[in-house]
Amino acid sequence: MDFCPKCGSRLVPTPKSGKKKAAVIYACPKCGYEKGIRGRDAEALPKVIEHRPQEQIAVISPQENPQTMPTIKITCPKCRHNEASWWLVQTRGADESPTQFYRCIKCGYTWREYS
Ligand SMILES: [Zn+2]
Ligand SMILES: [Zn+2]
Repeated sequence: MDFCPKCGSRLVPTPKSGKKKAAVIYACPKCGYEKGIRGRDAEALPKVIEHRPQEQIAVISPQENPQTMPTIKITCPKCRHNEASWWLVQTRGADESPTQFYRCIKCGYTWREYS
């Protein structure tokens, strides 16, 4: 248990979202002092952001050379280009239908089809 070096109040674990990843810090509820924690202390606390399966498979990249992949007429959500290469990824069990991914041939933005 940690105590605030400024006012002596007990520090409470406080989730805090950073730019890259979520962190948990100890904060003083009285004066606002914050103490970063790392390692086992941080892991013992509940994770602030749970990565959903959708987010994980969204970063899957095709193994093939993008130039050899089939293309489809579809509007890129990022640059509005109208052509993207596509491929299928079997995400989990074979009983689930594969997810279709697209990659804009202009800007390289990759996204998945939401059914
Ligand atoms: Zn304090
Ligand atoms: Zn694009």
